[in-house]
Amino acid sequence: KDKAAGKDKGQTAVAGGVDADKTTAFNDWYQQVITRGELIDYYDISGCYILRPNAFAIWAAIQKWFGGEIAKLGVEDAYFPMFVSKARLELEKDHIEGFAPEVAWVTKSGDSDLAEPIAVRPTSETVMYPAYANWIQSHRDLPLRLNQWCNVVRWEFKHPQPFIRTREFLWQEGHTAFATLEEAAAEVLQILDLYGRVYTDLLAVPVVPGKKSEKEKFAGGYYTTTVEAFIPTTGRAVQGATSHCLGQNFAKMFDITFQDPANPTGDKLHAWQNSWGLTTRTIGVMIMVHGDNKGLVLPPRVASTQVVVIPCGLTARTSEEDRQKLLAKVAEVQAALADAGVRVKTDVRDNYTVGWKFNNWEMKGTPVRIEIGPRDLANGQCVAARRDTGDKATLSLDTLATEIPALLDTIHNDMLARATAERDAHILTTITWADFTAALAKKSMALAPWCEEVACEEEVRRRSAITAAAESAESDEKAPSMGAKSLCIPFAQPADQDISKHVCFQCGAAAKSFTLFGRSY
Ligand code: AMP
Repeated sequence: KDKAAGKDKGQTAVAGGVDADKTTAFNDWYQQVITRGELIDYYDISGCYILRPNAFAIWAAIQKWFGGEIAKLGVEDAYFPMFVSKARLELEKDHIEGFAPEVAWVTKSGDSDLAEPIAVRPTSETVMYPAYANWIQSHRDLPLRLNQWCNVVRWEFKHPQPFIRTREFLWQEGHTAFATLEEAAAEVLQILDLYGRVYTDLLAVPVVPGKKSEKEKFAGGYYTTTVEAFIPTTGRAVQGATSHCLGQNFAKMFDITFQDPANPTGDKLHAWQNSWGLTTRTIGVMIMVHGDNKGLVLPPRVASTQVVVIPCGLTARTSEEDRQKLLAKVAEVQAALADAGVRVKTDVRDNYTVGWKFNNWEMKGTPVRIEIGPRDLANGQCVAARRDTGDKATLSLDTLATEIPALLDTIHNDMLARATAERDAHILTTITWADFTAALAKKSMALAPWCEEVACEEEVRRRSAITAAAESAESDEKAPSMGAKSLCIPFAQPADQDISKHVCFQCGAAAKSFTLFGRSY
């Protein structure tokens, strides 16, 4: 059972915000931020969470942007059923082997057993492709490019973590079919680029794009590309989103074929397919990277409220006339900012103190707070406070409609720059096994010359888990004795290194690439 479910029960108004320290009590901190920030509520089935409006608004912002971008590429939205028959789910052998332990099955309706158990989709390759086989007959039916926004269920056995690893999650899954590998391969990268931009351009989180190792690639796929994010506080990486080239494996199993126009009487050809997915995990990564001891810090582009305007300096001695003047100005500022395209609210509640309101909006992560008091009004100015840095600036009331959108952009850019610098400081180039374990002990990722062999990756995991266990025994920390795994083979290889001069940091065989390794979620 989730710890905070009981802990937060009955806790009332949360003016003080979070009280757990992000650095020393990360898990408690995360639970407080997501519950008190009203993003998540707990549920009585482990691994399932309620997404409250504050969280769903972030997801909606991602949907809007990403949906617009894939529409420009010619991808159309559709919806397929959430159930899949056993026979179809098990058609592609590697695929089902990868997913089997996590598949949830419906076995009963009421009291009677179903003749055949039905699976809840863990992903929809096997749901969609029988239809694709019907729809694709000729090369004119290609490319076929569909996307759906839906939920999937993976009965994960790893410890659940709200947003990051849940048993039911929301995502989009794109499923496309092409006549040639070249076209499919080009799309894999186009989509990966969009995933990278969801992180950098919307969530202000840096990612490393690259290719997955054979061991870590999608079950049944040809190859997998990924954007990898990093949580500096815990030293753990997290797979941000993945874009897979499925090759012709599924086309062969599901008989997705078309006539080659150059050879109208020859054998039919199998389509080349891709699938790609981005989930509500994105929100968890954003919270973990940017949040601080006051609570959430929302990047402006996904914040449902970007600016809150709070009247200040009203006391019992303020005349009713001055009070009305100030409230009128607050309303005017709100209207002007809304006209300028800013998502803005006013907080004129008189049953809360100004200090309480400041804390409350800070805990919710609102990027900018505008304070206006009677004296500001007289001077034609206001104070704008940044959530990310706490910096305050005095701005003229006349130019807010241009200054505030510019400030929101500056905040975005500064948040991304800070997160990037911190992430970069946690990527250490490690040539030997000793360097490698030292990097992990420093809560960093390791960029290491590697042979890319599956057996070697298994050894990396096994040996690094032993090292971690020894470390935590020595330091008496409750650190998970978790092995490291390969995160990706970055597309951008270190410019100052010649890979042919290196051997694998683990097994000593010839190295093929610098690969990013780390402990991960
Ligand atoms: P996959 O279809 O396995 O490639 O998954 C697509 C993406 O979903 C991954 O790249 C992860 O970012 C994300 N993901 C995987 N498992 C979970 C989970 N249990 N909860 C939330 N997101 C997940």
